[in-house]
Amino acid sequence: MKMVKVLAIANQKGGVGKTTTTVNLAASLAIAKQRVLLVDLDPQGNATMGSGIDKRDLPATVYHMLLGSKTLHEVRLHSTTGKYDVLPANRELAGAEIEMVDLKDRENRLKDALQAVGAEYDYILIDCPPALNLLTLNGLCAAKSVMIPMQCEYYALEGLSDLVNTIRKVRGQLNPDLEIEGLLRTMFDPRNTLAQQVSEQLQQHFGDKVYRTVIPRNVRLAEAPSYGVPVLYHDKLSKGTQAYLALAGELLNNAKQPAQA
Ligand code: ATP
Ligand code: MG
Repeated sequence: MKMVKVLAIANQKGGVGKTTTTVNLAASLAIAKQRVLLVDLDPQGNATMGSGIDKRDLPATVYHMLLGSKTLHEVRLHSTTGKYDVLPANRELAGAEIEMVDLKDRENRLKDALQAVGAEYDYILIDCPPALNLLTLNGLCAAKSVMIPMQCEYYALEGLSDLVNTIRKVRGQLNPDLEIEGLLRTMFDPRNTLAQQVSEQLQQHFGDKVYRTVIPRNVRLAEAPSYGVPVLYHDKLSKGTQAYLALAGELLNNAKQPAQA
């Protein structure tokens, strides 16, 4: 039987392309006939909006699900523009951080909620907020692996070590199965020498954990959210579309390989 693959898309650094990656990977996997659930774990609600769902008038969100006042089924919506399901979020979710503190097993609230629908999906993609907080911790505990989008900038590697340490801690204490699925180079400009150097360092340090697919800087990717559609349905021939389709292909191919010893 095929197992659902739960991926957290995380990096505590802001604006590195987490949400862009979550939305466009979800749409690219969906068009490859995968059943996908996108979980918006960020109070900014950008993945929700980018999926064509208005975050401002939602009766039930991930916030209610994490606190136990609504079930996953009551919260779940379908993105007609992206052809995948969504657990939406908005600014209310910011309160969950504090309100969950007294709850039992507070790091595992998302994992427990997702248990009910694991069999319905091939991929569950979790868009994490730009912080190593309790929400991100819920993402990392629910996930089997972490995808780390990053820009190839001077300080990128430094920020990466904090994230890698957090992943190690989570693996040691809360989620022994957690792996780094891969590092994704985003907003890449091949003409930028520094970006090339950082990219090389990344490959030296992380080897084949670095995806072969590189996401270029592409204005279509930045425009698509304002129409509430993944880039695939905004400009299907754009470089951004091609890159995220290639990333989905890489993921699907890796999934077919037998596990490495
Ligand atoms: P946050 O940490 O705030 O959640 P994020 O890591 O989710 O941010 P995004 O929101 O995906 O990052 O991207 C930040 C900004 O950069 C957005 O305006 C987005 O449209 C733009 N962007 C992302 N990827 C690309 C790209 N490859 N080319 C051009 N613009 C991009
Ligand atoms: Mg984001």
